[in-house]
Amino acid sequence: MRSSVSGRIGSGRSDDPLAGKMMMTQDASTAVSPSGAGVMGPVRQVLQDVWGYDSFRPLQEASIRSVLDRRDSLTVLPTGGGKSLCFQSPALCMDGMAVVVSPLISLMKDQVDALRACGVAAAFINSSLTQAEKQSVAEQIRAGKTKLLYVAPERLLSSRMLDFLHQTTISFFAIDEAHCISNWGHDFRPEYRGLRVLKEQFPAAAVHAYTATASQPVRDDIVNQLGLENAEVLVGDFDRPNLTYRMLRANGRLQQVVDVIERHRGESGIVYCISRKEVERTAAALNQLGTVALPYHAGMSDEDRKQSQDAFIKETCDVIVATVAFGMGIDKSNVRFVVHAGMPKSIEHYQQESGRAGRDGLESECVLIYSGGDVVTWKKIMQGDAQATAGGALQSLEAINQLCGSPVCRHKALVEYFGQPYPHENCGACDVCLDEIQLVDDPITLSQKILSCVLRVKERFGASHVAKVLVGSTEQRIVQLGHDKLSTHGLLADDGLDAVRMWIDQLVQQSYLQRTGEYQLVSLSESGRRLLHRDGNPRLSVPGKAKRSRSRAVSVDSWDGVDRGLFEALRSKRSAIASENNVPAYIVFGDATLRELARVRPTTLEAFGKIKGVGDRKLADFGETFLEPIRAYSETHQLEMDVKTVPAPLATAPRAVLPNANSISAFDHFRRGESIEEVAEKLGRAVSTVVGYLQDFLRQEKITDPSPWVDKSTRDSILANLPLVAEGRIKPMFEFFEGKVSYEAIRIVLTCHQNSETPAVSEAE
Ligand code: ADP
Ligand code: ZN
Repeated sequence: MRSSVSGRIGSGRSDDPLAGKMMMTQDASTAVSPSGAGVMGPVRQVLQDVWGYDSFRPLQEASIRSVLDRRDSLTVLPTGGGKSLCFQSPALCMDGMAVVVSPLISLMKDQVDALRACGVAAAFINSSLTQAEKQSVAEQIRAGKTKLLYVAPERLLSSRMLDFLHQTTISFFAIDEAHCISNWGHDFRPEYRGLRVLKEQFPAAAVHAYTATASQPVRDDIVNQLGLENAEVLVGDFDRPNLTYRMLRANGRLQQVVDVIERHRGESGIVYCISRKEVERTAAALNQLGTVALPYHAGMSDEDRKQSQDAFIKETCDVIVATVAFGMGIDKSNVRFVVHAGMPKSIEHYQQESGRAGRDGLESECVLIYSGGDVVTWKKIMQGDAQATAGGALQSLEAINQLCGSPVCRHKALVEYFGQPYPHENCGACDVCLDEIQLVDDPITLSQKILSCVLRVKERFGASHVAKVLVGSTEQRIVQLGHDKLSTHGLLADDGLDAVRMWIDQLVQQSYLQRTGEYQLVSLSESGRRLLHRDGNPRLSVPGKAKRSRSRAVSVDSWDGVDRGLFEALRSKRSAIASENNVPAYIVFGDATLRELARVRPTTLEAFGKIKGVGDRKLADFGETFLEPIRAYSETHQLEMDVKTVPAPLATAPRAVLPNANSISAFDHFRRGESIEEVAEKLGRAVSTVVGYLQDFLRQEKITDPSPWVDKSTRDSILANLPLVAEGRIKPMFEFFEGKVSYEAIRIVLTCHQNSETPAVSEAE
């Protein structure tokens, strides 16, 4: 059945003024959707009128289509990917009321507050309401006025509520935080299990599930547990290109934390610590050093926790120091940095916690400070928890430990961990790709020295002992064991104990060495044995040579043309309005909107309404209030107003960055016409790495013809099947060719194709 488009709010016309634009932003998968383009028109209009946004994010469109088509669906998008709009915007274009299942009272309240601020008829029912308030919500629903109703699962499933809903027209059910249904996930909530009855009790209403958890078992579990029928499963791109990742070995942790905060003065951020005690200690130390920081952990009273949280979301305090207890249910979109002052417990946790930065798409920084001691701390914590150790928690801990210690692109490592290929060789937004980590010149020879020492001590000693032998210690124990007579004794005497210890850790993290048993004896793994024959690609960093991070997280194009003073003035205004109305600051306007206001400096309500993030309702509510300080500030500082600018692009793709030094060293080889294999051989690099260099070369030289590297018929088949490349993922195409065309060939042809599509000079005003 085709969806109805009546009952929406806003001032849209039935013809779609954005239709032309839509064709441009459509991706290949939606272009062939049987729904046709027409049904999206009203949703686009709503997006513009209500939210003040002019285009959908990747996957939002496909997700919304399944809602309009009334086809059960599961949408997996990382935090900040924009899941809420996937069900909120179509709800306004369909008959009846959408029922949104949400696990936490605080989440419901935030979402409903945000919707109401945009003029949407939304409500929640939960225990925080008085009887009279519940009555009034019910009346609104009976009168057909409510478009979105938020409830917790246990309330939804009460027979009273189900009866009530049977008398109401339901457009669809949206299950937010759907991973709570799975005990494979990290937030299992048994009450979610009951949601299965929705399909039985309301066969006409589709059920749509939303989560940020990427793992396949959780995904399957959601579909099965909810009893979804022929569900459309949409999995978004797990990369967060607007986040810059840095992973630093602990070296004066507090100072490292302070360095990050310094880079983000006047911006909101979260500092995560492993334990409550660390939270208290760190918060106290930061305050002593002059940074106002509030603690948050499960050991505090509800009252104190609420106070910390309120201060953070209303922006009377910029920094919160917290355990992992903080975060779920906090929708704050403008968190500009997340620091882990200790190693998180797993990559899944890291993705989730660091993902709280930059939900608004603006550049943000995630710094993880780690040490071997953190692993020990976690193991101690897990020891008391049989369930944790049984559930693979130790492997998860090992995985994050390896990620920290391996100097490989962080974006790539994270995305690949979640089972997606990462097509870029240099992300331009992590410490490794920004060249902040200096690598040793000849890691293979250095590794061989360390590995052979491990063999010389017969793989029967721990890392410290091996390191001492390598630096030539003449400690009593070493002499007693005769280890001062080994050929490897003193082989790395010039490097110092700390460096050698670190390299051993890195070889463990990269799986060339392994630690076993109670005494953590170090031995060679299979790949370690191969590395003895120079087969392998270890990466070892130069100790203490971490170059200082640039003063800001990443290139700051989203600040281009923004008057910082005016931005600050608007931020105070926002904070005041938020406190007055008792809502989070970002609900008034997001950071992206404030920046655009401080860039364009509109003089009229009409110009104000064109700013991204300003819908009809917010224009009416806050337009005049913000125009006034913009006018005053611009006059005092003699700033041009109504500036015509191209809006700053969101960081949706890696910024164009200069290729790194390794890559450039390969360019001459390519110019001389050498084959990929030849170059790989000469540079001692893997073929896939060299293809990355070649891609850099192709981009730099704007080469559009791949024929020197890929034969014509392969190229033609790749180009003929371009629509298979959905949102930058090349795996579907690879699978389509059933292994007959290599990933390398696809990457090369796509890069040349992109070069032919990008105009040399932008024609934008
Ligand atoms: P999620 O629930 O997936 O974590 P949200 O729904 O909270 O993400 O969205 C994150 C932020 O992105 C919000 O500030 C939201 O208003 C904004 N956003 C969502 N979709 C769009 C869009 N199409 N254009 C601009 N901003 C968007
Ligand atoms: Zn990178």
